[in-house]
Amino acid sequence: MASLRSHVRARAQRRCEYCRMPEHGTNLPHEIDHIRARKHRGPTALNNTCWCCAQCNGAKGSDVAAFDPATDELVALFNPRVLQWDDHFEWNGPWLVGKTPVGRATIQLLKINRKDRVKHRRLLIERGGFC
Ligand SMILES: [Zn+2]
Repeated sequence: MASLRSHVRARAQRRCEYCRMPEHGTNLPHEIDHIRARKHRGPTALNNTCWCCAQCNGAKGSDVAAFDPATDELVALFNPRVLQWDDHFEWNGPWLVGKTPVGRATIQLLKINRKDRVKHRRLLIERGGFC
């Protein structure tokens, strides 16, 4: 497990693979996320895990899908192993913008633009710790 963890962490360059928060930007330790949760028979394997901040992981829980707030369409959450982050997300200052139903649904379910998280990112950006 230790080697899986270190591999997942290094592969992600020590950033959350959903909100891109760097480890050094938060006091809460990042965690391994099972993209397809164990309760849904997701394996603990490199192709089903990602590096995840505690905020995103806590909000995601065992969810694998969510509703796009723009269309109310049910879509699978962003999967960093098979999708490209830049295809689904872009920054507008400290706000993360969903470019697709997957991006919008993931942002909403993971509460990535919650007021305190936006404020936190804004402070990091001002200090050059979030880019
Ligand atoms: Zn995150």
